[in-house]
Amino acid sequence: MNGRKRILVTGGAGFLGSFLCERLVGDGHDVLCVDNFFTGTRDNVLHLMDDHRFELMRHDVTFPLYVEVDQIYNLACPASPVHYQFDPVATVKTNVHGAINMLGLAKRTRARIFQSSTSEIYGDPAVHPQVETYRGSVNPIGPRACYDEGKRCAETLFFDYHRQFGVDIRVARIFNTYGPRMHPNDGRVVSNFIVQALKNEPVTLYGDGSQTRSFCYVDDLIEGFVRLMAADGLAGPVNLGNPVEFRVRDLAEMVIELTGSRSRLEFRPLPQDDPVQRRPDIGLAREALGWEPTVQLRAGLARTIAYFEAKLGDAGSGASV
Ligand code: NAD
Ligand code: UDP
Ligand code: UDP
Repeated sequence: MNGRKRILVTGGAGFLGSFLCERLVGDGHDVLCVDNFFTGTRDNVLHLMDDHRFELMRHDVTFPLYVEVDQIYNLACPASPVHYQFDPVATVKTNVHGAINMLGLAKRTRARIFQSSTSEIYGDPAVHPQVETYRGSVNPIGPRACYDEGKRCAETLFFDYHRQFGVDIRVARIFNTYGPRMHPNDGRVVSNFIVQALKNEPVTLYGDGSQTRSFCYVDDLIEGFVRLMAADGLAGPVNLGNPVEFRVRDLAEMVIELTGSRSRLEFRPLPQDDPVQRRPDIGLAREALGWEPTVQLRAGLARTIAYFEAKLGDAGSGASV
């Protein structure tokens, strides 16, 4: 194929990474997927294993990596609060040492490098919807800081490697994304609600459920990744997410309706530093990438529910989840 590239995807066996690997292999590229399997699994990329364009390597990005590549997508990092708070020091190391190693690799190989940053860098935002120029409101010593501040430092490193060494960077700020292959025990709201509803167990609302999030279906997000990586001269940061905002309580009710569940709502305490509202301003992505999400929440939830139904069915039959 013309334009065939060698592409490294760190965190490639995770939720987003596995869809990205699939897309890049489908586009005719050679993909090296690097993962330490902290939250990702081989199962997520099993369907790619027979493809000669795909290679899987167990490796922790906090250690140096010497490979020859044309592009790097740096996704390695647990994304759910439950997972990133499990070992906060490891989360900071993954974000900071991982970024340094991947930037060092990009500098040596002159590869273009994409960073999966996050809406969490806006913290509990005082500006709504969040626009890229907003600098955020993050508690640097709270339980979410290992992730939020780790990602902020990674952005700093990306822009310093860019200014100091001319590394060709692309920084995306990703807002809440959902879809098949989320870990069933991931702890994030969409997977929690779907698994609880399918089991007819109480659906756990933290706080009164009036906090808001904007949910992007995975296919839409991956299209945004690829467009940003291909864009000329746009280092970013660029918000990628769905601009339609929902209350968490509305999401719970929609999931119960779509699953036909007998679950009731159960109210639990709101975690510390949980942002009250979040919605991306995607004006820049629209203008510079011609990108916007196309999958509505109901349609995306239906596809995600079908995945979890099959997964839970397998678990019931003794297969591994
Ligand atoms: P995920 O937990 O499913 O995937 C993360 C992957 O990184 C896993 O496969 C994990 O095993 C791997 N990993 C973790 N630490 C590693 C290390 N030290 N070395 C090598 N591999 C390591 O999460 P995801 O939702 O797919 O998130 C992927 C990226 O996107 C993350 O960087 C996350 O911060 C970012 N992001 C995701 C969302 C979202 O809503 N899904 C939102 C904002 C940002
Ligand atoms: N590095 C890597 N692979 C490479 C090149 C560098 O993992 O192909 C790592 C290496 O461990 C180094 C880090 O990236 O510590 C930063 O590289 P840089 O060249 O910026 O720093 P230096 O090597 O000068 O410390
Ligand atoms: N949440 C909830 N019940 C759950 C899991 C999460 O009410 O079982 C809430 C959580 O408090 C937050 C929102 O849903 O307000 C999104 O949580 P998630 O962990 O998915 O993402 P993040 O807080 O990182 O945006």
